Amino acid sequence: MIDYELTEMEKELQKRLRALCREEIAPHAPILANGAGEEIRALLPVRLRKLAAAGYMETLVRGDFVAQCVAGEEVAKACPSTFLAAMSSGTAFGRTLAVFGTQSQRSRFLDGIVKGEVIGALAATEATGGSDLGGIVTEARPAPGGWVLEGAKDLVTNAPLADTFLVLAWTNRESGLDGGLSFFLVDRGAPGLEVGETVETMGLRGAPTAGITLRDCFVPSDALVGGEGGGMGVFSAVSCWLGLAMSAMSVGIGVACMEVSTRQGKQKRAFGKPIGHFEGVGAKLAVMFTHNDLGRMLTLRAAWALDRGAEDGAVLVSCAKVFTGESVNKIADLAMQTHGGHGYLRGTDIERLYRDARFAELAYGTTERQRVSIARDGLGRFR
Ligand SMILES: Cc1cc2nc3c(=O)[nH]c(=O)nc-3n(C[C@H](O)[C@H](O)[C@H](O)COP(=O)(O)OP(=O)(O)OC[C@H]3O[C@@H](n4cnc5c(N)ncnc54)[C@H](O)[C@@H]3O)c2cc1C
Repeated sequence: MIDYELTEMEKELQKRLRALCREEIAPHAPILANGAGEEIRALLPVRLRKLAAAGYMETLVRGDFVAQCVAGEEVAKACPSTFLAAMSSGTAFGRTLAVFGTQSQRSRFLDGIVKGEVIGALAATEATGGSDLGGIVTEARPAPGGWVLEGAKDLVTNAPLADTFLVLAWTNRESGLDGGLSFFLVDRGAPGLEVGETVETMGLRGAPTAGITLRDCFVPSDALVGGEGGGMGVFSAVSCWLGLAMSAMSVGIGVACMEVSTRQGKQKRAFGKPIGHFEGVGAKLAVMFTHNDLGRMLTLRAAWALDRGAEDGAVLVSCAKVFTGESVNKIADLAMQTHGGHGYLRGTDIERLYRDARFAELAYGTTERQRVSIARDGLGRFR
């Protein structure tokens, strides 16, 4: 039976991060979100180290999934951009290495990731292959003592700052997705690796994103992560972890939207009273709260199932990601409405959150792809 009571360790982590985020992370969120590249370069690594000192990066790399969601909600509420950058380094890169890496790969990188001193990134998506990995073209061909990578990745979170990348490439196209793809560790300084210009995104602008190019890029044999041909297995596991993380992010953004709307409902007056006293505004707050609370429950249920290795863990993550992704967009929309025309101005908190929320349905398994997985799982049960 599911138990929603947090453990003492989880409550302590939540309390610690809530305090840190209020003091150190939230105040810089608007600067990061609208800042220039140089400001982000200066601020983001410092913030990752502060979160690391509070145990957040360790939780992403090795912690249980419920703890990740509880902690992640706090970080995303304070600054969705910081959440995304930490997730890309701690979960997408660090946890992947912790679970699938060799002993020497783990000892080379994980200490630095956990301390926030090393920044990692995961590079799977390409212009021709996002939802459909069959469309990627990056290839690794065997060479004496290692592999040579050739291709290009785009939309890599943290690329402008990352020290190291996990890159997905074909090692044997004939074998198809199961058996033909492999992950490689590629250091930033690897000859032939080039990081492109930071791309302009609609939201989450404080988590810098860029493409990378690999031209005749040599990596040694021990750069393989998860074994030759193991890429799809690794990717499926990582997608599940990231889907859960994104659900926690949506819930965190939802709370932030509720907070700014509640403040607005109390402070802004019209027709002689605070606007929150009008039924049309109060009802919006009620819908926001209901959707977000349901989303949190679904997210924690999925995390709880993953922590127990339950068979339905992955499909529950898909359900949580679809529900929270759609909910946070509805919540952000309602929150914008409670601000009237003044919320539509560039630089307001709600304008930033509204842009950030849109990401939840687009990346790390789009809503449509998650629904395909849920339907497949359901149809499998009815077979
Ligand atoms: C800011 C940002 C950061 C990112 N960071 C990373 C990162 O760090 N590493 C990384 O590897 N990637 C990253 N991504 C990429 C992201 O995960 C992809 O954009 C996502 O997987 C979707 O791929 P796509 O953009 O190619 O869209 P497409 O796959 O082309 O999808 C386009 C539309 O078609 C729909 N569609 C596709 N297939 C189906 C289907 N079978 N059934 C129904 N509908 C379908 C999709 O749902 C979507 O609506 C990032 C993206 C963004 C925007």
